[in-house]
Amino acid sequence: MQDTIQALLALQELDSDLYRVKDELRRLPAERATRRAQIDALVGRRDETHKRALDLKVKVKELEDVSTVARQRIRKVENEMAHSRADVALHAAYAHQIKSLKKDISLADEQALTHMTEIETFEAEEKRIQAEIDAAEKVFAEFSGNVDKEMATAQARLGELEAQRKQRMAPNIEPEIFQHYERLLQTREGIALAALEERVCQACYIQVPVNLYVRVARGTAVVTCPSCDRIFYVAGA
Ligand SMILES: [Zn+2]
Repeated sequence: MQDTIQALLALQELDSDLYRVKDELRRLPAERATRRAQIDALVGRRDETHKRALDLKVKVKELEDVSTVARQRIRKVENEMAHSRADVALHAAYAHQIKSLKKDISLADEQALTHMTEIETFEAEEKRIQAEIDAAEKVFAEFSGNVDKEMATAQARLGELEAQRKQRMAPNIEPEIFQHYERLLQTREGIALAALEERVCQACYIQVPVNLYVRVARGTAVVTCPSCDRIFYVAGA
């Protein structure tokens, strides 16, 4: 069994590196995607802000049209008023109409003015977001370039490590033990073995019973930590 532990230790030497490299190869593109999504969200916010300004511009145009039509009608009513005979009731009706039209104009102008202030706010916001996007894109381009370089390095390192691992792969490790070892690599972040020093697991720092320590020290069976499940070896053995 000592041979098995020695073989696993030889593998573990590579496998912690392998785990780190594989983790990097997963993490780098994921981080790039996260950063891309953040910029895309900004672009979405900019477009939304732009659209709100545009919608308001349409409203302003509509209000200006309301105002123009009302002014034209006032002129028409004033004209009719000037040409009508001095009928008091009719004059009063015309005057009322003009008053009402002026009220429409004032209301439309007021609303248009409010919208124009809002448009200015949205346009300033759009400009601010655009500047944020530009800055983020610049940082992203550099980050993305670095990711490409780091990925290439990690990929090359992965190839090296896998080739070395093939050479170190001992044919005499029992499949069940090897499977347990490989599972531990995944669940224990690349560290499947744990040194047992003075009855303390050096991976999770639990103290093990004496009989367990004795079994590990004898080296006649593969013994796993009751807490973290890693395969024990005696340090320096
Ligand atoms: Zn442990």
